[in-house]
Amino acid sequence: MAIAKLQVDFGRVYAIRPRAFLVSQESTFAPAVRALYGASLPPYVEAIFVSCCGVNAPSLLVRNSTDPSYADAHEVAHWMIWQTAGNRLPLWFDEGLAEYEARTLAGSEAFRSTNRCTASLVARNNTVPADPNQIDMSLAWAYPVASEAVGLLIGDLGMAGIVRILELVKAGSQFEPAYSFVSGKSFSDFTATYRERLAKLANPC
Ligand SMILES: [Zn+2]
Repeated sequence: MAIAKLQVDFGRVYAIRPRAFLVSQESTFAPAVRALYGASLPPYVEAIFVSCCGVNAPSLLVRNSTDPSYADAHEVAHWMIWQTAGNRLPLWFDEGLAEYEARTLAGSEAFRSTNRCTASLVARNNTVPADPNQIDMSLAWAYPVASEAVGLLIGDLGMAGIVRILELVKAGSQFEPAYSFVSGKSFSDFTATYRERLAKLANPC
């Protein structure tokens, strides 16, 4: 289901179908990540997209979790983003777009609602940095904030605009000039108001 949605949203098919490794035992997830990725991950990570480090083809490694369809969709989205833009996107945007795609999958409405609430609350508490590049992606609220910030961009530019930005980045542009080219505005115009817009997403919630 996630693959079909992503192909529609991005207007293209997967050039290579993701290889998925489903790790059913908690105790084998960390060693499997180390073997494939060469690194340890924080304990909250439920899945990982591997596109480097000597692995033959991009691979998904999904921990058996309480919400496997979400983890699966998030990582499959990274695969599509990687195919469209390569590996040169700002971390907040890459993670935010993958999270947005996973949270707009049919059946994820309750999770999306929670994300909007979280993003709105932390924006109202002045916790969100003025520059989204400064979002610490290890914090609990970072994924909801990044995904809802991407949601604002999708609202402004449409998915076609987002895909155009990804294509420009793949062609060699930096992210912010690509945003300016597609939107006709500077990225600082977006950052000047994005926290205020996030605060209004779900107030009250
Ligand atoms: Zn991710």
